[in-house]
Amino acid sequence: MQLIVALLAAAALQAGAIQIVDHDMAVEFEPSTHILKVTDTITIAGDGQSLVAILNKGFSIERIAAGGVELPFRWASEQETGEIVAQLGWPEDALEGNAGLLVVDLPVGVPALPKLTLSYGGEVYDKKMEAAFGRESISAQTTGLIGEEGVYVAPSTYWYLWQPEELVVYKMEVTGPEGWEVMSEGDIIGREEKDGKVVTRFGFDHPFDGIHLIAGHFVIGREQHGNVDILTYFFPGSEELSPRYLAACKRYLEMYEEMLGPYPFGKFAVVENFFASGYGMPSFTLLGSQVIRLPFIVDISLGHEIAHNWWGNSVYVDWRRGNWCEGLTVYVADYHYLEIAETADADEYRRNTLRDYTNYVSHGNDFALRDFHARHSAATRAVGYGKSMMVFHTIRRAIGDEAFFGAIKEFVRRYQWQSATWENLLGVFSEVGGADLGWVAEEYIDRTGAPFIELAGAESETVDPDGSPIRGWRIKFALKQSQPLYGLDVPVHIDIGDEYEVQTVRLEEEQQEFELTVGSHPFGISIDPDCQLFRRLHREEIPPVLSQIFGGADKLIVLSETGDEAKLEGYRQVAAALNRGDKATVKTAAEVSDDELARSTLIIIGGPSENALAERWEEMLPNGSLVNTGGFVLAGEEHASGSLAGVACMRNPLNQELGAVVMAANDAAAINSLGSRLLHYGKYSYLGFKDGRNIVKGIWKVETSPLIQKFEN
Ligand SMILES: [Zn+2]
Repeated sequence: MQLIVALLAAAALQAGAIQIVDHDMAVEFEPSTHILKVTDTITIAGDGQSLVAILNKGFSIERIAAGGVELPFRWASEQETGEIVAQLGWPEDALEGNAGLLVVDLPVGVPALPKLTLSYGGEVYDKKMEAAFGRESISAQTTGLIGEEGVYVAPSTYWYLWQPEELVVYKMEVTGPEGWEVMSEGDIIGREEKDGKVVTRFGFDHPFDGIHLIAGHFVIGREQHGNVDILTYFFPGSEELSPRYLAACKRYLEMYEEMLGPYPFGKFAVVENFFASGYGMPSFTLLGSQVIRLPFIVDISLGHEIAHNWWGNSVYVDWRRGNWCEGLTVYVADYHYLEIAETADADEYRRNTLRDYTNYVSHGNDFALRDFHARHSAATRAVGYGKSMMVFHTIRRAIGDEAFFGAIKEFVRRYQWQSATWENLLGVFSEVGGADLGWVAEEYIDRTGAPFIELAGAESETVDPDGSPIRGWRIKFALKQSQPLYGLDVPVHIDIGDEYEVQTVRLEEEQQEFELTVGSHPFGISIDPDCQLFRRLHREEIPPVLSQIFGGADKLIVLSETGDEAKLEGYRQVAAALNRGDKATVKTAAEVSDDELARSTLIIIGGPSENALAERWEEMLPNGSLVNTGGFVLAGEEHASGSLAGVACMRNPLNQELGAVVMAANDAAAINSLGSRLLHYGKYSYLGFKDGRNIVKGIWKVETSPLIQKFEN
């Protein structure tokens, strides 16, 4: 037995030396029968007596030939597959789903004659579709579908001969029925109609990490941007969305060509999909019909997918060494758009990023960025996107804007059409920034966790040398950080009345004392109030918001007990709408005990004049706010006329770990603003509606936290 295994292993090793260099494919698809037919002429290289590669094991292979001679082939058994995968060092999950391992025996003289032609085909019709966002959700999707509803054939269909971790160079001629337009990676180099068929040719000089075959009854929209064709492939009925997409693509291409260098493809297409998706492929994006109609897609997600054409889709990720590309894409897309708008939204974005890490990631589910592949939960997103994005922010703070943006451009220039790692990235940042950034890998890429910092004992005194007139103030304070230690450039905001003076101190020890001098009277200090550092937040730094309450544990809805019956009935309907899955307990204020309140996430419906609990905690709302039946005071503004409804979140006064929300309306009509509509406002701490329209919304400012200290003097 051992001998057989050893022999097989030796054969496999030899086999692995044969590589596929490129593909020249003729493909035909038939929606009515779900059939895909492929004739692929591959070029091979290397030494060995057999070619080993992956193909859909549901396909039937008609013929494999080299130089007119038919070659013997077989599907490897399960045991042999395991051994070959181990021998070749392929990832253990290299053969998922429909993947089968094909072994083609080569006669003497091949690969000296390095062209092999394979003819194969079969049905592709997996109706399992899942709504998914981004190229990161690939494992959750269908393994491919060819039908009257549309054509989606992906790398995970294993529809072309593939060797794991190898990039794919291809050209392809696709034949489909009249009325069907086809999309794939790379450039469209020809399209003609003949004999009632549509023939489309694709080609590209550089390799891809996977190839898709997409087709549908598309109406094509066009715009030119330099040498780049901007295209929309939309279903009839969606054409009116085209001009907005074409203009937005042009805008993003301009932005990223300036930031990152030339766009690497001859086209960029926005393609409508027949199932819900938000995928980004090299040179196109595939968005579901509902998705293309969402307002934030054009403003954020489209730009994110276009940015992926520089990395993710042309500098590839070396998956064994950690996925760096989502964090970098978020940093130059989602986050960057807020930064260039020059509002406080970018600060808010960083705070929310730290909040999500603090809320969703704990010892049990934390992992190092090195081990990030794809997001599949709030925690993997908080690390793979959020922490990663903050690591790029940290690098930028360390080397400055010019070096940072110069380095990412240089990184693309150097690694395009190759796989790259965190080390490759950090190497370019170090070189362009003129600083060794090895600490980034040590503290943030290979280590789990985040720093947690505390402010200990701040005080200020006047600097009054030799009894001469006051020249300034000295602030003394200590900072502590948890183990393991980080090197942190900590921003300290000094409150000098109408404004803040910002100074930076370097924290490297577990506890360090600092002294700063300022020329104006200081009223207090605040440590990293706008979240420049990647760190775990203090609970007090996280303003309560609606999503925390609606998603909270042990929800208790406390209803009004007094008031007119129409209003009470309205409030009961709000309670029912917010009681998703019937998981909450519903009671009136008179029925609840303090014990029960302290254990619960609270939704208090009715203002102080209707609800005894709202009355009891009237003064507890943050920032002097008021939500009552006569109207509301929110964000310093009072509203008392019209049909009004107000909503305000706070911490549960009996348990600071949990949230509470108070909501009230001044008439039965205004109650319609509450209820399930509020679920769309999850990111906010407070909301005000007038005559059914939202007029005030926001997130509470953090005014007290362990990182803020006011001075007595
Ligand atoms: Zn992405």
